Amino acid sequence: MSTHTVNATQTHDSMFDAVLARLDTAAKIMNLSDDVLQVLRNPQKQVKVSLPITMDNGKIQVFEGYRTIHSTHLGPSKGGIRYAMDVNADEVMALAAWMSFKCAVANLPYGGAKGGIKCDPRAMSVGELERLSRAYAQAMKDIFGVNKDIPAPDMGTSGREMAWILDEFNKITGEDSPGVITGKPIAIGGSLGRDAATGRGVMVNTLAALKKMNLKPIEVTAVVQGFGNVGSHAARLLAEKGIKIVGIGDHTASFYNEKGIDITAALAFTAKNKGVLKGFTGATEIKSAELLISKCDVLVPAALQNVITEENAPKIQAKLIVEGANGPTMPEADSILNDKKIICVPDILANSGGVTVSYFEWVQNKAGYYWTEDEVNTKHDLKMEIAFEAIWNNAAHFKTGMRLAAYITALQRIEQGVKLKGAY
Ligand code: GLU
Repeated sequence: MSTHTVNATQTHDSMFDAVLARLDTAAKIMNLSDDVLQVLRNPQKQVKVSLPITMDNGKIQVFEGYRTIHSTHLGPSKGGIRYAMDVNADEVMALAAWMSFKCAVANLPYGGAKGGIKCDPRAMSVGELERLSRAYAQAMKDIFGVNKDIPAPDMGTSGREMAWILDEFNKITGEDSPGVITGKPIAIGGSLGRDAATGRGVMVNTLAALKKMNLKPIEVTAVVQGFGNVGSHAARLLAEKGIKIVGIGDHTASFYNEKGIDITAALAFTAKNKGVLKGFTGATEIKSAELLISKCDVLVPAALQNVITEENAPKIQAKLIVEGANGPTMPEADSILNDKKIICVPDILANSGGVTVSYFEWVQNKAGYYWTEDEVNTKHDLKMEIAFEAIWNNAAHFKTGMRLAAYITALQRIEQGVKLKGAY
């Protein structure tokens, strides 16, 4: 299938290096000009701030906040904000670059950015999280803007944090600018369908890939790693399409049942169990390391980055991987998956449904006119199907796997922006 692979002789301790390895490989295959490559190898702007927060115990704790703008060649920069302990400059830079490529793959008029705060949101009170989110919005007031840089949720954040950030931004500017942030609650300018959008994109991409593989949804089984916003919606929507979900897991526990897991029951369980799967009785509990290598046709890593490695890739049994998470596959594993003829729908395509509906939310905010959920879903599905087809075709044209084809597709579009806008 694939004649091109990413340089796998070096290990990638840095996530941004892993992005560059794929960027360089894709650039070579498609003959990207060196000028454009140099521009894209260097993020446009990196901001790091210190956020002193009064904790509930009265003591001040200083948090690190980041925002990296990778590119603005196709439009204002777009990308989420994550709250997690492993947030650092390198990770945010990698995630920002992926947003540039993801927006280009989905053909959205955006560049790419990402932000984050190094914190453990599960260990913080609601009041502490609110103060932290507002402090972050204050610190980034000159970065964010409806036509400048538009954040959204990512790991560890949701509509709640977006509402606080929007409110703080509105206080600073003295006017209501709902389009400055997406993934908001519906009542304050969010879009119907946004919550489920990333999982929905995973579903649409899975169905598109199965069709190419001549497989029907009712004939296949799937394992979904991650049961947060992306994984839980993906599992539910895949099950609704007739796919048998045989494995699920989150950071607390993993489960397998070859007869199929009742996803409605799992969702009802997590709703009453602080959002986590630990204690679920609808399937046999297995070790978390076993989930990715258990028997299934479709594997959806929808939790963390760097979970498919050189070590476990040879043991993966799935025929199709659909990456719900950002960066779940390490570059070292790419060639192993290619050699095993496993089709991999890469993150920058597979999880682009989220930012696609973020774009729809922004359009609705600008117009002040709101669409029905059906309208959102129909427009979303069409955009995803077109994106999938373009990348499938580029994979055949350039004789690559889908990951490099997605990078190539993104670079073909961003290259035009860089060249048309020019340099000093
Ligand atoms: N955080 C999501 C992502 O990684 C969504 C970004 C957005 O909607 O701007 O794609």
